[in-house]
Amino acid sequence: MEASLGIEMDEPMAFSLQRDQVQADGSLKKPEQNFKLPGVKKDIEKLYEAVPQLGNLFKIKDKIGEGTFSSVYLATARLQIGPEEKIALKHLIPTSHPIRIAAELQCLTVAGGQDNVMGVKYCFRKNDHVVIAMPYLEHESFLDILNSLSFQEVREYMFNLFKALKRIHQFGIVHRDVKPSNFLYNRRLKKYALVDFGLAQGTHDTKIELLKFVQSEAQQESCSQNKCHIITGNKISLSGPAAPKELNQQPTMKTSVKRPYTNAQSQIKQGKDGKEGSVGLSVQRSVFGERNFNIHSSISHESPAVKLMKQSKTADVLSRKLATKKKAVSTKVTNSGVIRKTASSCPANLTCDCYATDKVCSICLSRRQQVAPRAGTPGFRAPEVLTKCPNQTTAIDMWSAGVIFLSLLSGRYPFYKASDDLTALAQIMTIRGSRETIQAAKTFGKLILCSKEVPAQDLRKLCEKLRGIDSNTPRLTSDIQGPVSRDPAFSETTDHKASQLTQTPQHSENLLYKGDSNGCGGSLNTDTNLQGWNEVPDEAYDLLDKLLDLNPASRITAEEALLHPFFKDMSL
Ligand code: ADP
Ligand code: MG
Ligand code: ZN
Repeated sequence: MEASLGIEMDEPMAFSLQRDQVQADGSLKKPEQNFKLPGVKKDIEKLYEAVPQLGNLFKIKDKIGEGTFSSVYLATARLQIGPEEKIALKHLIPTSHPIRIAAELQCLTVAGGQDNVMGVKYCFRKNDHVVIAMPYLEHESFLDILNSLSFQEVREYMFNLFKALKRIHQFGIVHRDVKPSNFLYNRRLKKYALVDFGLAQGTHDTKIELLKFVQSEAQQESCSQNKCHIITGNKISLSGPAAPKELNQQPTMKTSVKRPYTNAQSQIKQGKDGKEGSVGLSVQRSVFGERNFNIHSSISHESPAVKLMKQSKTADVLSRKLATKKKAVSTKVTNSGVIRKTASSCPANLTCDCYATDKVCSICLSRRQQVAPRAGTPGFRAPEVLTKCPNQTTAIDMWSAGVIFLSLLSGRYPFYKASDDLTALAQIMTIRGSRETIQAAKTFGKLILCSKEVPAQDLRKLCEKLRGIDSNTPRLTSDIQGPVSRDPAFSETTDHKASQLTQTPQHSENLLYKGDSNGCGGSLNTDTNLQGWNEVPDEAYDLLDKLLDLNPASRITAEEALLHPFFKDMSL
């Protein structure tokens, strides 16, 4: 069985937009817009029904977010005298494990309420329905504002993100899902809030009591004495978009981090919360992030493999030129024999046929997947998460912050778009270098095999290129190209957007493609290049480099980041 597939990547970058995967934050939606949707109205009614005490206190106005594990509503407090107080009501999916729910709440109550960490006002429960009431922070959609942010705003944004991360890391909370939709940003008020502790875990010395429980549970699963010999030697083959699903899905990960309580099938109430029953909004929930109400992603697509072929046929000369430089990267991750002894007490089993090759033998295919804490969106996951390193620290949040920073500096969001971890890892390699990635993985006990060597890229050059700043003539090509931010810097199919790297207007077919694809405006602010983007200091890229440190042990901490020269004139 050919289990190791190559994935194709352009060098340095090429772009592709798969609309069914476009994952925007979906965080800010016009209340009127959603209220018209019958599904939302129904959901609100159901919520009142499920948790009747809400009705006495709140008027629920709208649904403002729907993630994999919750629905969030905007409400106003009924008995409030004076100005209307806005509240966010987070209705947790009823199948959430009670400890998971309690831990999320404890993160908010203990660490929240200051330093840009969301606090909590009340919590309501009836039967298996839990609703967390938080102060409402109106916020922007990251995608919508990305290309109009001034450089100074980006500095402030990152500074405030680190402030929040420093706060939670002091409490021994690893957030595990740091991404723009979990860091609310009100541009006008310059207010920020880190939300969503639904995947949080504790460090070994966490101050959040309930996270100790969450953590020990994961550890038990990941390395109980009896299971060790089966778990080690587990290998993962990097699979491209056409890879067999079983290899990508990693069923064990679901049991370890999935929020819903796995034994709670019987607890699911038909349609009680508008989730199990059919609702007006019938778009599939994504495990990888919040659904955006503004983007209706119903367009069906051909398989990426087919698409790639088609696109290269129609590609223009310049695209083709880039395509010839394409590198097929195939990687495979295994526990490194050298480190295995120290990183884990599990003995190595190297007796199969495929060790240190880029194939996965049938013995290995039948092994149990290594279970390690895993969470979040592949594109934001640190290399040690992607390779399932069992010892994960607060450093994983810093990597995710680095990916956000990369988006802010390059004007691309999402920056990495991969549906599975190994594709994400290959994408990281093309930015940070394959040798460097392999080297770093060794330090945390993982052996990565990669079919091709790809060099690390200069972060400044990369970001400027993606932002459309010509290094010779400092002006934005984006002015002619429109909202570049709609395209990820990376996605699983490449090619047809390759010409975006060029500046000649003859590639306008890409513009047309984009234009009719999502119909979204968001035209690039023509002032962008007057907002400090043509003189980004080296400190910015130095900080980015330290955030995207492949080695978690040397990666910059939140506390250190706040003291980085990039923030020299900013005060805490
Ligand atoms: P999930 O676990 O489902 O991702 P989140 O806590 O991230 O839930 O909330 C989902 C979305 O709801 C957020 O991305 C944000 O847009 C919105 N939201 C959550 N909390 C608040 C809040 N306190 N104020 C305003 N909006 C919020
Ligand atoms: Mg969230
Ligand atoms: Zn093998």
